[in-house]
Amino acid sequence: MRLSRYFMPILRDAPKEAEIVSHRLMLRAGMIRQEAAGIYAWLPLGLKVLNNICHVIREEQDRAGAIELMMPTIQLADLWRESGRYDAYGKEMLRIKDRHDREMLYGPTNEEMITEIFRSSVRSYKDLPKNLYHIQWKFRDEVRPRFGVMRSREFLMKDAYSFDLDKEAARTSYNRMFTAYLRTFARLGLKAIPMAADTGPIGGDLSHEFIILAKTGESAVFCHEDYLSFDTPGLDVDFDDAAGLQAIVDKWTSLYAATEEMHDEAKFAETPEASRLSARGIEVGHIFYFGTKYSEPMGAKVTGPDGKDVPVHMGSYGIGPSRLAAAIIEAGHDDAGIIWPDTVAPFKVGLVNLKPGDSNCDAACEDLYAKLKGQGIDVLYDDTDDRAGAKFATMDLIGLPWRLVVGPKGLANGVVELKRRGPGAPEQLSVDAALNALT
Ligand code: ATP
Ligand code: MG
Ligand code: MG
Ligand code: MG
Repeated sequence: MRLSRYFMPILRDAPKEAEIVSHRLMLRAGMIRQEAAGIYAWLPLGLKVLNNICHVIREEQDRAGAIELMMPTIQLADLWRESGRYDAYGKEMLRIKDRHDREMLYGPTNEEMITEIFRSSVRSYKDLPKNLYHIQWKFRDEVRPRFGVMRSREFLMKDAYSFDLDKEAARTSYNRMFTAYLRTFARLGLKAIPMAADTGPIGGDLSHEFIILAKTGESAVFCHEDYLSFDTPGLDVDFDDAAGLQAIVDKWTSLYAATEEMHDEAKFAETPEASRLSARGIEVGHIFYFGTKYSEPMGAKVTGPDGKDVPVHMGSYGIGPSRLAAAIIEAGHDDAGIIWPDTVAPFKVGLVNLKPGDSNCDAACEDLYAKLKGQGIDVLYDDTDDRAGAKFATMDLIGLPWRLVVGPKGLANGVVELKRRGPGAPEQLSVDAALNALT
């Protein structure tokens, strides 16, 4: 992409309304724009990041055996009356009437709808287990939308729903998602810690929030610091091996970790004091086993091996890709701007032409641009006639992993300058060596 033709409305000054660094940087980098309180447009650079996050999430959901579908954003109120949640949900639900006066709503979550889809066609335990997911916009009329896309009213969610014959099988489905989440967050460059979460009126111990530690996090969290150095499950995880999955979950729940609602001082005191972390955290994912809470009232039953009909055991598994875009910035930035992990960076390379109009610089840049693109590398080519300082500031702000600078002096000596975003120093290399380093 040539910067001269792109749409990336950079702000030089920090917008006053932004209280936390990710919100400030997303606005300054031209990633998002607020269209109403808690409702954002994703501008091209932001959308690329969001899509990259979703790509990683999809790969790990698919790897774990979940199947993607797509449910609508608008739902019928009557569906929610079947579970009893239409009245219970309260003011966070955006309620709408259509022209025939039918009560509708903008989905805040999809348990009811997926249960309806499941019960319409699945009849036998032989069709289980099933895990269906989608990545779809949700609306929750948050009392205090704030921090940009971190807590917005309209936000993207990956929500998966599992169906099993009994609790034991449902536990394996839960463990699959638990493991997939560990892999997903690690690939996004994050250290997410699964923390015991409140299961509300349903009870049981099968609910975890995946939390990223950050000063600006909205929840108080308490955990053993060793979680920060645990290895994440590798590519060789066997998602059909129930015992193997249980071992992963056992390890990742072996030490203390709880959010404020579940915190138990006495238990926490059993962790050696030097290893106790009391911190702030951001909830980026939440997984939940809720048994027959929806299948029972909504009649989602299968025939078991003994010929009897039983309601299926369900779980739901959420991740917030739009919140993650902000959380990744909270975890990776410096004074100059964002530092993207390779997996989500909007472009891999920022190619800077220090002297557009200079035929040597132009020719070298065009050549590099074509060769990098030819290798399938996404490049943002700054071909504008801004000052060098402004170009560097923009590249640092938008946080691409690599900056490749081409200038007349360097070219006269046969070199270009390659720099990894972050604290390291730039390197002078021949054009071929730079290409080699990037491909
Ligand atoms: P929170 O405690 O932050 O309000 P929640 O517990 O209500 O979140 P869940 O119902 O567990 O959220 O939804 C699953 C995921 O969706 C969350 O873990 C989070 O990543 C994301 N999410 C929820 N609410 C928002 C929001 N208002 N803005 C952005 N992402 C959100
Ligand atoms: Mg909430
Ligand atoms: Mg929560
Ligand atoms: Mg939650």
